[in-house]
Amino acid sequence: MYSPAGVKTNHNEFPIPDTMRAWVLGDPGQLSMTDKPTPVPKKAEVLVRIDAVAICATDLEIIYHGPPASIQGGLPFNKGFTPGHEYMGTVVGLGVGVDEYKIGQRVAVEIHAGCGQCRRCREGMYTSCHNYGLNYGDVDKGHRANGFTTDGGFCEYQVNHINTLVSINDEMSDEEGTLVVTAGTAMYALTELGGLVAGESVCVTGPGPIGLMAVAVAKALGAQPVILTGTRDNRLEIGKQLGADAVVNVRKTPDVVAEVKKLNGGKGVDYVVECSAATTAVNDAVRMVNRGGRVCLAAFAHEDVPVDVAHIVRNNIYMYGIRGEGKSATHRAEAFMQQKRFDATKIHTHTFPLEDLPTAIRYAKARVEDAIKVVVKNQVGAVNKVAAE
Ligand SMILES: [Zn+2]
Ligand SMILES: [Zn+2]
Repeated sequence: MYSPAGVKTNHNEFPIPDTMRAWVLGDPGQLSMTDKPTPVPKKAEVLVRIDAVAICATDLEIIYHGPPASIQGGLPFNKGFTPGHEYMGTVVGLGVGVDEYKIGQRVAVEIHAGCGQCRRCREGMYTSCHNYGLNYGDVDKGHRANGFTTDGGFCEYQVNHINTLVSINDEMSDEEGTLVVTAGTAMYALTELGGLVAGESVCVTGPGPIGLMAVAVAKALGAQPVILTGTRDNRLEIGKQLGADAVVNVRKTPDVVAEVKKLNGGKGVDYVVECSAATTAVNDAVRMVNRGGRVCLAAFAHEDVPVDVAHIVRNNIYMYGIRGEGKSATHRAEAFMQQKRFDATKIHTHTFPLEDLPTAIRYAKARVEDAIKVVVKNQVGAVNKVAAE
């Protein structure tokens, strides 16, 4: 029976085994299910029973290619590493000093826990922690990036710092709970752009999960018009359902910049949120905004991208890059979701049990049946929850 010193548990309602099932990454693309010791929360950490985890395009990058994961300073292969970073679950164990959360509380989990002691963390920019990746082992800076530099969520339990938790209510399904972080990333992009976008024009490029959530959040914040560009009509259609006033299929439109301006009354838009990672996207974005406009880059590019610097300087355009879900944006996103200001579940398409992770990954990777967000659920967790009710 799991009973580490100093950790509060409630085995009657939430029995915790000493070992748990966990997927680990071997060679590129090779995942296998194994047993790992159930992790132990330290001071200000909790043990989360993972109830659901969504697959992200970045998980596929990590599993098949390695970066942006960095384990012990290198590629994540054959190190017993468990990927997965967009998860939610139930608090089942409390580390020393934790009274902010109760056992049984449902939470979504932010990916990044800053070290709390570097300059950026002290400024509230914990997703830009200067001790990124320096944790566990010879140096222990207490920094975590679930599924990037520390073990993630394709398993049954994980430890997380209380600062990364977002309480969710029982009306929110497990699947929707996994989307809090996705919506939080979109919220962070709009936060960095200034946040006060009511009545101003926003173009989102790329209707992936973060782009679609950027449309929803921009609309919920009162932006108008909200324009979405992309290559797939079915995704653009979901963008409309989430609040896009207009959509542009770039495959069918010879000059996407001219089309966006036309849709905004002949003028450049105030803000662009770039979520496509297309090679032409940065130059399109800086030409879509008006003079003095702002562009936020939220997608990992796969190659060097040409940038028209002279155009940016001549027109006083502001450029931002964001990583993850900083500045507590997940809390603001969750508030919108709780108030049903948009329906994030429109981007959830499939659910599989944890043991079918390879099938779930195949669906996400090949976009089988137009898959967008594919979720795996911890069936053991689901059974426990029923038993506890
Ligand atoms: Zn992700
Ligand atoms: Zn830090």
